[in-house]
Amino acid sequence: MKANVTYWLDETAKRFPDKTAYADEKKEITFGALRERARDIACELTQRGLFKKPVAIFLEKGVDVLVSFMGAAYSCNFYSPIDVDMPGSRVNKILEVLEPAVVITTASLKDVFAAYDYEGEFLLLEEIFSMQGRDQEKEEKLEEARRRGIDTDLLYVLFTSGSTGVPKGVTINHRAVIDYIDWVTETFEITEKDSFGNQAPFYFDNSILDIYSTLKTGATTYIIPKNLFAQPVLLLEYLKEKKINTIFWVPSALIVVAKLKAFRNVDLTDTLKRVLFCGEVMPNKQLNVWRKFLPDVQYANLYGPTEITDACTYYIVDREFSDEEPLPIGFPMPNTDILVLNEKNQPVAEEESGELCVRGTSLSMGYYKNPEKTREAFVQNPLNQAVPELIYRTGDIVKYNERGEIIYLSRKDFQIKHMGHRIELGEIETAVSSLEEISLCCCLYDERHQKIVLFIEEELDKAYINERIARLVPEYMLPNKVIRVEKMPINANGKIDRVKLKEHMK
Ligand code: AMP
Repeated sequence: MKANVTYWLDETAKRFPDKTAYADEKKEITFGALRERARDIACELTQRGLFKKPVAIFLEKGVDVLVSFMGAAYSCNFYSPIDVDMPGSRVNKILEVLEPAVVITTASLKDVFAAYDYEGEFLLLEEIFSMQGRDQEKEEKLEEARRRGIDTDLLYVLFTSGSTGVPKGVTINHRAVIDYIDWVTETFEITEKDSFGNQAPFYFDNSILDIYSTLKTGATTYIIPKNLFAQPVLLLEYLKEKKINTIFWVPSALIVVAKLKAFRNVDLTDTLKRVLFCGEVMPNKQLNVWRKFLPDVQYANLYGPTEITDACTYYIVDREFSDEEPLPIGFPMPNTDILVLNEKNQPVAEEESGELCVRGTSLSMGYYKNPEKTREAFVQNPLNQAVPELIYRTGDIVKYNERGEIIYLSRKDFQIKHMGHRIELGEIETAVSSLEEISLCCCLYDERHQKIVLFIEEELDKAYINERIARLVPEYMLPNKVIRVEKMPINANGKIDRVKLKEHMK
């Protein structure tokens, strides 16, 4: 029985010590070296007396981030990656919630971090990696720490957009990741012969699939340079050159490739074996382009929020779909119960739609140091009056089709997916409201044109607003369009009338 994901690394490093585990643009690391470097970090964390403590990772995306993740996990601490491109004020909000016991970074990035509200300890990778060997006593201490940890201890905290402007830290334990990866590797028959092309940022939970399937099976993950996602032909050439046979991307990334018909230039017939996706709706229109050019590939639509460890339902594409049909999100993963509840908290009747709720070991332990938000989303199972049992309310509205497959319909709140990013429109509104000139504002999402639309009463242009709020929210949250209204429409409840505002988007 495994209570910590790093036991996978112990086994894989024994089986394939010299095989490449992870590779980025500049370097690659073998399983043997990954284990050694991670244990160097872990020993240092244990020496500093850290156990079950938050470890922030502030590094450019690359192999060293993954080494640091494993270092935190070996020592039974939990990691939280902080994007180096995130605006400073948002980093500060995260630091206020997380209160890291230590920040793992490099000497040069430490200087960047000095601008943030943090006075705690650092661990510099250059210093750790230049240390010569570990003594027996340190190793024993580390093993003792790992033995003390249990599978419900946290492995990571990933921060997602929060409607009040404060990001929410989703906590995930070792058990949830172990169960999920067991399912992934068994279902898609992943072995050491496979290689992944990683697209997902490490602060986004899709990356869990690439990172840990590799760790468990001895496969290889290539971290694809971000700029290639804007150059589909080069991107496909990269997949061919590295012999990447499995990709797990957000639909937005697949759509760009389909729209530019990059397959005409690069033939991936003998390269790609599996195309998996998750994170937002995958339109059949674009999937059909992929299927036309690569008919023998296995395609699968995974669905799920960060709060249930990446995915909780899946559909392996097994039939033809017209461009207009929705692609099912399919069926629950094993050991996962999906409840579709109507407004009376009863299971939906045939044809009825309801909120998708999840029960099982994949559930997050809650939002880090945020009992209020945790209580709202993680609630007692209304169908079980006998014993305490939590379900997670996703806020996603779904229904069953005549085949018993789950079909995603919409959200019941103001959370959106824009270019693969999860965004609470409230977080943008909070940022815009903080500008002196703004009295009232409202954000809507124009699904058809995939645009974030901001409504304001003042005569301010988009460039002016975006320049100012860029200090507060990540670039992908900046409004794509600003519409001025004479007076913000208000409904009978005294709230901004979003239905009326929507008319301006037609
Ligand atoms: P995140 O926490 O960033 O993974 O975002 C989770 C949300 O993305 C879900 O609650 C859904 O609204 C949406 N989502 C994830 N996967 C899918 C999918 N396969 N189809 C449609 N929407 C999805």
